Formats: sequence, structure tokens, C-alpha cells
Amino acid sequence: MQFRDLKKQYDVLKESIDRSISSVLSSAHFISGVQVAELEEKLAEYVGVRHCITCANGTDALTIALMVWGVGEGDAVFVPDFTFFSSGECPAGVGATPIFVDVDARTYNIDPVKLEETILKVQKEKKYRPKAVVTVDLFGLPADYDAIRPICEKYGLLILEDGAQGFGGSLHGKRACSFGNISTTSFFPAKPLGCYGDGGAIFTDNDEWATLIRSICVHGKSGKDKYDNIRLGVNSRLDTLQAAILLPKFEAFKTYELDEVNQAADWYNEKMAGTGLVLPAIADGFVSSWAQYTVQLPEDIDRTKLQGELKKEDIPTMIYYRKPMHCQGAFAGTDSANADCPVTERLCRTVLSLPMHPYLMEDVVGAVIKAIQ
Ligand SMILES: *Cc1c(COP(=O)(O)O)cnc(C)c1O
Repeated sequence: MQFRDLKKQYDVLKESIDRSISSVLSSAHFISGVQVAELEEKLAEYVGVRHCITCANGTDALTIALMVWGVGEGDAVFVPDFTFFSSGECPAGVGATPIFVDVDARTYNIDPVKLEETILKVQKEKKYRPKAVVTVDLFGLPADYDAIRPICEKYGLLILEDGAQGFGGSLHGKRACSFGNISTTSFFPAKPLGCYGDGGAIFTDNDEWATLIRSICVHGKSGKDKYDNIRLGVNSRLDTLQAAILLPKFEAFKTYELDEVNQAADWYNEKMAGTGLVLPAIADGFVSSWAQYTVQLPEDIDRTKLQGELKKEDIPTMIYYRKPMHCQGAFAGTDSANADCPVTERLCRTVLSLPMHPYLMEDVVGAVIKAIQ
């Protein structure tokens, strides 16, 4: 059994993907080929923002957004304690101090009440300037923007939506990657929309920032001339080959994969009711793109042993995430290590992510649940 069945997906889409790859090979435009611009246009339209700028990966996308805003030394950036490392690595990488905030036990996303408490605490201590919030749409579910946006407006904070796992999700019909002042995503193969290597994208409605992002992605070039470097940037582009792979994959994602993965989630939810496991909660108005299907085990279950037993039955499982951000070694001895996040600590002990993808069949979901029971 596959945890995320990329082989099956390729079998289904093989003809269109092969054709698309082949057209890049014969054109030999490996960097900034027409497929890149075509993809950016389609993604911006789908998400519902003015600009999409693709880049090399989701981590660069976050860093570039922070560079555009000039976030750095002395700035506090609020980040959920329960997320992939990049969400906190990037603010720290530009010199700011990530301040980790506890998450909601049912949605796994940043807890808006804790967010406001933490902002007030940082304000009071006066050591760092509250500057931005990295709102992560974890496991495919948009963060609680109805609650987060007013808080950010109240304290003058920018929202950087880390939609690496969230692409395709929505809230009140508005799509993920449109909720931030700048939003980002990742096309790492296992994400909801993945390519065949690394890739990422940055979304914004702000024309000025979009121009800056395009410049920073290509060594700080001027608008007119690639060899006129007017600021320091990075080299972060999506390869034409990856864009060509994403074009047919995006069609499949829009037309049926997103529906199918939600069907798989419904099967899990129905069949798992009454097992005593805590299931992922999707509130009214929210749609998840199910980057992961993550349950919580009772505290007295030996998770490692359960994983071993499941593995014997050819059922792969993963632990996202094992360690709270504030406990990561990279932050040891820094102010980022000081965080009060009991919910995250419990989740790190009890979560288990199950096989999840659009090509999952009902009988396979049944077999996973039977084995767990
Ligand atoms: C995967 C991921 C990233 C980083 O994306 P890459 O393309 O792997 O650099 C950032 N944030 C979150 C929440 C992620 O899951």
C-alpha cells in the first residue's frame, strides 16, 4: 500500500504528462519557458489573486515574501508550534525571531486566542517588534482567517499564509493562497498539487510586491534587464519541465482529484466513527485539500508498536509532527525556545497520519481501519 500513490497518479495521467515533458525537451527552453507563464496565469486565476510568481520551492517562497517586507533583526514573527520546520526556519533565516504559538486541538491550526495572548506578551516585553504572522494551512485545512484577520488588523501585523499543504482548500468559497497579504505554496511531490521535484509559488494582490518578488527571484534584476541587478536577490525559479508537469496535473487536481480526496476523507470519517480516535475536524464553511489525514490516538496506546503492527500488514503510516517547533535543536538557547504550547506537545505524542490521496479506494480505507482496530 502507498502512503500517497504517485505511481497510480502517473499511470492515469501518463499520456498528457509525457507529451508535456516531451514538448519542453524539443523546445529546449528549460528556464522560463512558456509553460511557466501559462501555469502562473492559471494558478492566479484559480486562487483568485492578481499575481502568481513561481519559484524553486515552498521554503524559498516564504523567505522571498519576508525579504519583500524587509522582515529581519528585531522583528517577531508569530508561527504555529505544530508545523513543518520551514514555517519557522524562514523567519529565523532572515534574522527575525519566530515566536511559537499553540494550536487548536481539533483543527491543528494556530489558535487565534493564543495568538492574541502571545502578541500582547511580546508587545509588553518590548524586546521584539511584532511584525507578521505565518498562518499555516496545516494538512490541507485553511487556518481560521475569520478570527485571525481582525487580530492582525488590530495589531498591525502582516499575514504570510504558508499554504504549502493548503493548496485547493477553501473558506466560504474563497481559495487557499488568497488569505495572506502574501501567500505561498509548495509543489513538493507529496503536497496536494505536486510536481516531479522541487517547486513553489508566491501569490499576492499587491502589484508593487509582485514586481519585487519577480526581481528577487532572479538575482534582484531590474524590470528591463536581467543583467542589471538593482538589489540583492536569490536564484529561485520553477524549471520549465516542472511547470510542464504541473499543467496536466493541475487539470486533474481541479477536475477530479480534489473531489476524490474529499471522498476518501468521508470514507475514513464514516468508518472511523466510534473507534475512540480523535478525527480531524472540518468546521462549516471550510474545505480541506487533505494533504494528510491525521488522527489522534489515546495517550495509553503505544504508537510505535501500532505503527509496527500496521507495517506488518503493508499499511504505511507517518508521524506529522513528532517535535514541537520550539523544541527543535536549531532554536535551542534562543528566545524562540520559550513557548507555552501544551496542545502541540500532546499532539506530538498522539498523532498518526494514515494513507491519503485521491486514488485511495473504499476497500483500502476499510482495510486500514480494520487493521487499526
Ligand atoms: C512542505 C512545506 C514547506 C516547504 O516546502 P518545500 O517546497 O519543501 O520547500 C513549508 N511549509 C509547510 C507547512 C510545508 O509542509
